[in-house]
Amino acid sequence: MKKLINDPGRVVTEMLEGMVAMHPGFLLIPNHNVVVRADYAEVRDQQVALISGGGSGHEPAHAGFVGPGMLSAAVAGEVFTSPPVTAVFSAIKAVAGSRGVLLIVKNYTGDRLNFGLAAEIARNEGIAVETVIVADDIAVSSDRGVRRGLAGTVLVHKITGAAAAEGKPLEQVAEIARAAAFDISTIGISLSAGTVPAVGKPSYILPPNEIELGLGIHGEPGVLRIGLRSANELADLMLRRLREAATLPDGSRILLLVNNLGSTTPMELSIVARRAIEVLQQSGLHVERVYSGTFMTSLEAAGVSLSIMPVEEQRLRWLDAATDAPAWPRLPVEAPRPATERIISVSVSSADSRTTAEAIPKPMRRVIEAACHALIAQEDRLTTLDQAVGDGDLGISLSRGARAILDRLPSWHGTSADALKEVGLAAQEVIGGSSGPLYGVLFLRAAAVLQNHPTVWAEAAYEACQTVSEVGGAQKGDRTMLDALIPFASAFKAGDLTSAVRAAEAGAESTAQMFPRKGRSSYLGERALGHPDPGAVAVTIWLRAVADSLRQS
Ligand code: ADP
Ligand code: MG
Repeated sequence: MKKLINDPGRVVTEMLEGMVAMHPGFLLIPNHNVVVRADYAEVRDQQVALISGGGSGHEPAHAGFVGPGMLSAAVAGEVFTSPPVTAVFSAIKAVAGSRGVLLIVKNYTGDRLNFGLAAEIARNEGIAVETVIVADDIAVSSDRGVRRGLAGTVLVHKITGAAAAEGKPLEQVAEIARAAAFDISTIGISLSAGTVPAVGKPSYILPPNEIELGLGIHGEPGVLRIGLRSANELADLMLRRLREAATLPDGSRILLLVNNLGSTTPMELSIVARRAIEVLQQSGLHVERVYSGTFMTSLEAAGVSLSIMPVEEQRLRWLDAATDAPAWPRLPVEAPRPATERIISVSVSSADSRTTAEAIPKPMRRVIEAACHALIAQEDRLTTLDQAVGDGDLGISLSRGARAILDRLPSWHGTSADALKEVGLAAQEVIGGSSGPLYGVLFLRAAAVLQNHPTVWAEAAYEACQTVSEVGGAQKGDRTMLDALIPFASAFKAGDLTSAVRAAEAGAESTAQMFPRKGRSSYLGERALGHPDPGAVAVTIWLRAVADSLRQS
């Protein structure tokens, strides 16, 4: 077991001490592990007090939901262990005022007994107490006496908390809570179980390709072990069960809760939510709200539960009402819409600045074709070089870029400068990695210089290489494509193209002796020595092709 704890026997107390230290809205009843909203004394004669709780390990439930608009107090038992009667009673004593107390209890024998007996003792003392049992788990049985209380409980906290804050009398608040609890259906799947700190090993071990369906939140296995399948298929399976159990007429307005059971990533939650919204909407239900997040967990179990509940205007108002409970997230107060309805279209092709409608000059076309064919032909060599010192994608990336340029070339018009600009735009769009943007910069800058002074090729090359150095933060000698580009540009300015290409080749070769400081090879340090930089070699491949093609014409 790997956990950030001090003493398995003190996790609950230390957790609560941390929470109350952080949140000014919390007070702690020591020895009983009860968190109370800090303004309890001011409000207990104005509204019904709400108390919930149970075993710990379901964080942020329940203490995270203490605060104005939700719970007045939360009682935290040991991990997965119902809190003792005195702890519940101490919470009642703290927050009970003239308006009475409602206990919201998940349907587990221990919780029913401990909360039930505490209620009985309180009534004996003349405190008005009502109890509501939440049994939203539809996996185990259709018998509500047997069903467990799961993530749907937090919806009862929210709805009832908002209703209580309006000052409604106890009987009415209890009625609202019971109706909400009655209406919620929940089912979950788990990919792996959590580990109870005091136990030290996971509650159950699942083979890599199996999951539990219909799990509880106390590390108990589900009702069924099934093969792992896609997020969509699992969402469909859960929704099918929910629809069967909930008997919602077509056209019903519902809320969907996508709850993280502990260690599920927000990425996975959103992927499940995406499917669930789509399926529910297509099945003729009106999804009014979707809540996705971490509400009721089972320690670090991986998995999700889905809950659905019918909603009408009044319930929506209570769900949407503000609360200061720290674990209640900022949730949408509008209905979800399919992603296809939330699209903006942005054009990323730059404004057309072509100077003529004529085709690219033939020599320029030939040069570009030669460079591209050379890169495609040398794909494997570049792959091998990049595998030695990088991530191996350079050959594929550059040949992909070369193919795209060959595809697009026939549709290009204008001067040679226009063509270079198109090459730059295609490079940044198609190549990706580090090379894509660097080649984008190289050709766009060269094009810009030639746009104004169409004959200064050496000057354009030189300035373009300087810009690559500025944008990428690398200098000559850092073992990058610049070790081919800069010698090329310097020699080109001083002499002819052929000697410039030779300078590039010598530069690329010399990178094998250079210590890598930029790009992925820098992770290898001196292990890169002896291998030339693939980006520099790539430069020599297309430069050599350019020079050869010009000599032939
Ligand atoms: P990535 O490492 O992102 O996969 P590519 O495979 O597309 O990048 O390109 C790798 C090449 O990019 C390297 O061989 C090197 O020549 C070049 N490179 C990396 N970083 C820089 C930089 N800052 N300036 C110039 N060239 C760089
Ligand atoms: Mg790479």
